[in-house]
Amino acid sequence: MKKFFAMLCAGVMALSMAACSSSGDKYIIATDTAFPPFEFTDVDGDGQFKGIDVDIVDAIAQDQGFEYEFDSIGFDAALAAVQSGQADGVIAGMSITDERKETFDFSDPYYTADVTMAVAKGSGISSYEELAGKTVAVKTGTNGADYAKSIADQYGFSIVEFKDSPTMYQDVIAGNTAACFEDYPVMAYNIKNGAGLEIPEGMTAAGSDYGFAVKKGENAELLEAFQQGLANIKANGKYQEIIDKYTK
Ligand code: GLN
Repeated sequence: MKKFFAMLCAGVMALSMAACSSSGDKYIIATDTAFPPFEFTDVDGDGQFKGIDVDIVDAIAQDQGFEYEFDSIGFDAALAAVQSGQADGVIAGMSITDERKETFDFSDPYYTADVTMAVAKGSGISSYEELAGKTVAVKTGTNGADYAKSIADQYGFSIVEFKDSPTMYQDVIAGNTAACFEDYPVMAYNIKNGAGLEIPEGMTAAGSDYGFAVKKGENAELLEAFQQGLANIKANGKYQEIIDKYTK
């Protein structure tokens, strides 16, 4: 019995040492949990964690020769992880905004997306005016949440926050909330894949650019590698191949 424990300890030590040394030379990239086509677990396919962001980082890492690991923890958690130094960078369909530039350094834009309102299929809600007296669902820390908050008083609706997009959609589908705000390509992808929501005509608002980000003033070499790699995969066609793979 004693011998067994000794062996177990040696094993655990070896494992944890391996874990320490490998995480030391690997960048930790924080990301969202379910934000297709940018990052998602392909439960209907091969079960892998994939998407535009995931493939872009992989292609850039190969191009630039660095090791990385994804930490799929949710949007606001990913931003917080970078700020606290628990992750080296974030890619999560993250919009480049002036406010975020105060605490993050961003890469060049790699995608552009609008924000849209979405409602439960068949609900008949087609304007902001119809949200009066109702509750609207948003995802914490997002542009969509900021946008909804900016028009909430004007249209007389209140707001409830969710940590992730699937839970937010479910709340709208269940009829607890009248609408949600989400990035257009993500909402469109989910609707195409059977989410019971729809986008009323003309309900998209101001677009934003997505960028890869590191904590302001930190991890400059990772940001530089991302920039270089992004330029290279745009030039050699790999970037377009990834976009086509997930949007066609
Ligand atoms: N583009 C939006 C933002 O940056 C939403 C990102 C997300 O939900 N992953 O706020």
